[in-house]
Amino acid sequence: MAAPKPKQLIRPLVHSLHAYVPGEQPKIRGLIKLNTNENPYPPSPKVLAATRAAVDGRLRLYPNPTAQALRERLAQLHGCGPENIIIGNGSDELLALAVRTFTEPAATARATIGRASGSTVQYFHPSYSLYPVLADIHGATTHAVPLRPDFTLPTVPELKRGKQWDFRAALTLVTTPNAPSGRGYSTAELDALCAAMRGVVVLDEAYVDFAAENALALALKHPHVLISRTFSKAYSLCFQRVGYFVGHPELIAALDKVRDSYNVNGLGQAAALATLGDLPYYRRNFRRIIGTRERLRRELTGLGFEVLPSQTNFLLTKPPGPPAKEWLQRLRDRKILVRWFSASEVNAFLRITIGSDAEADALLKAVQAILHRRR
Ligand SMILES: *Cc1c(COP(=O)(O)O)cnc(C)c1O
Repeated sequence: MAAPKPKQLIRPLVHSLHAYVPGEQPKIRGLIKLNTNENPYPPSPKVLAATRAAVDGRLRLYPNPTAQALRERLAQLHGCGPENIIIGNGSDELLALAVRTFTEPAATARATIGRASGSTVQYFHPSYSLYPVLADIHGATTHAVPLRPDFTLPTVPELKRGKQWDFRAALTLVTTPNAPSGRGYSTAELDALCAAMRGVVVLDEAYVDFAAENALALALKHPHVLISRTFSKAYSLCFQRVGYFVGHPELIAALDKVRDSYNVNGLGQAAALATLGDLPYYRRNFRRIIGTRERLRRELTGLGFEVLPSQTNFLLTKPPGPPAKEWLQRLRDRKILVRWFSASEVNAFLRITIGSDAEADALLKAVQAILHRRR
């Protein structure tokens, strides 16, 4: 008998998937990397020491399966119980778990529930481009609803009038503050949106430490609201992959059933725990990054860029002159890497991560050189 062809062994759904495209991580000497919203400042020396100290014979053992110590420490920080918290291998893992826990694949939903909303993963557009990828992997139904043209959040009456928004969607994912726009949403407007929803709402607060407000209280107020946080961006720990959800114990327990038993590696748990022991170090860095952000916003505006207000560690900006995609290349020629998205709502913009002050200076210098065509 002939051996099976690999292609025939793969589910048709998987064949048709488009994988998520992460920002580039090129290894070019002297490159200034402002494309993936990483923190320009290293983890605290205490975190590096704690992580190093955890590298010994214990690597042979499985880590704590529920990240118990970390959940207890986070519960203290947020004024809730450890049963309100689940830790993930990055918040991306938890977003995937939410899709698998709260939505039916479309085919199952049609057969068993008889209403489409049970398979719906809803999100605003533009927002985090991973959401539709996660929904597609699960065979759920994606439902993107546009933000206002200036990327602010439509009100509940506007969403009702628009008739596009599904208030019964099984899962709604809201990036707040938003990416890639950088816009912050007030807790009051998020509260009104959550109160109107009948399915699970995840407020993805990956960038909230750079914002004026956070909506954590909504996860403890509404039983159907989860807050997603990550140690990656604000806490300089992308490499370690640690994120968490806060919410109602029954939702958390359901997610807990779906996750892998040892989903968070031991060094990640140690690093995150040490991070929570040195929060003043990180708060200083938030202030520095916000200072650099506001300076860069003023200076780019002075150079003719249209810059959206930002509550994050990046700026979305429409450059003057040549198309944004060409700016991407011209900056790259000068060893500065920023991010450009092809989606039509944002393809006239560049997303620029806030780096150190020296990196901001280098960016401004490159921009001036490009504007003066000194290529
Ligand atoms: C970076 C990012 C995440 C993922 O963070 P990890 O914890 O590193 O997986 C989630 N949501 C948004 C909006 C992000 O930008």
